[in-house]
Amino acid sequence: MIPGSFAYHRPTSVKEAIGLLANLGEEARPLAGGHSLIPMMKLRLATPEHLVDLAGIPDLKGIRPDGDAIVIGAMTTQHEIVGSDLLTEKIPILREASLLVADPQVRYIGTLGGNVANGDPGNDMPAVMMCLGANYQVVGNSGERSIPARDFYLGVYLTALEPGEILANIRIPVPAAGHGFAYEKLKRKIGDYATAAAAVVLTMSGGTVAACSIGLTNVADTPLWAEEAAKILIGSTLDAATVKNAVAAAEAITSPASDGRGPAHYRTKMAGVMLARALASAKARAR
Ligand SMILES: Cc1cc2nc3c(=O)[nH]c(=O)nc-3n(C[C@H](O)[C@H](O)[C@H](O)COP(=O)(O)OP(=O)(O)OC[C@H]3O[C@@H](n4cnc5c(N)ncnc54)[C@H](O)[C@@H]3O)c2cc1C
Repeated sequence: MIPGSFAYHRPTSVKEAIGLLANLGEEARPLAGGHSLIPMMKLRLATPEHLVDLAGIPDLKGIRPDGDAIVIGAMTTQHEIVGSDLLTEKIPILREASLLVADPQVRYIGTLGGNVANGDPGNDMPAVMMCLGANYQVVGNSGERSIPARDFYLGVYLTALEPGEILANIRIPVPAAGHGFAYEKLKRKIGDYATAAAAVVLTMSGGTVAACSIGLTNVADTPLWAEEAAKILIGSTLDAATVKNAVAAAEAITSPASDGRGPAHYRTKMAGVMLARALASAKARAR
């Protein structure tokens, strides 16, 4: 339970942070809220020689509108997302999903950037970001780039981030006014990671689905964007037969591990149940 020794660095600008990461090499890791990294270090599953703490960089914080999108700084906490009037009005699924992350103590310190950069398929926000079509703005010594959340997750703890890069902010297109949304999560107890969870954002027009996007949490090595399942629903009234087909399509792309949260088959089926519930809630909320 005691981490290996490490040197601690506290830059005050993005430029200084990426300079430190470049100079210190692959044994250096960014530190955000520490609520995933520090437990990994205590278990000696991560043994960085240098921690570059991003907490002293004001440019990495805040939530602001930017044209037809909202930009959230990577060091914004889950608690700040829950409390944001702008997000509650424009992208309410973020508040709903954030309230299902861990417990208040973790949410006070844990950051959105850390949650999405971590690469743990159990984290809740990545599937939400895939569902929303978010883009991750990353910066490193060789410049800046934008990576779609849907292309970011490559495997367990493996992302498209290159060594030395940090996630600076997350740009989320604002869904259409009147959209329906839901994040449904099955967990064993308060504060637990998902056995399975589903994020849905949809718009209805004249009683039928005009647009739909679906993300799934913790039912594969990476979060999943269930593109085919969403396509099945477009043009439907979300009638029972079509929802059943879409659920089957979503279940078909899952490949969960059997673990303490249940056998693989059960977790796949729970992903389907969460999706059906999320679709029903989203439909009821759509205007
Ligand atoms: C008891 C408990 C229960 C939890 N339950 C849940 C849950 O139900 N759902 C859930 O989603 N999470 C859960 N978590 C995890 C929690 O949400 C973490 O806060 C989150 O996963 C990581 O955010 P962090 O700010 O703490 O990042 P850290 O732990 O500091 O960092 C995580 C990883 O991301 C990297 N990183 C962080 N920020 C950046 C950045 N800006 N650029 C590049 N790399 C970066 C770090 O180097 C590290 O590899 C739980 C944690 C605990 C302790």
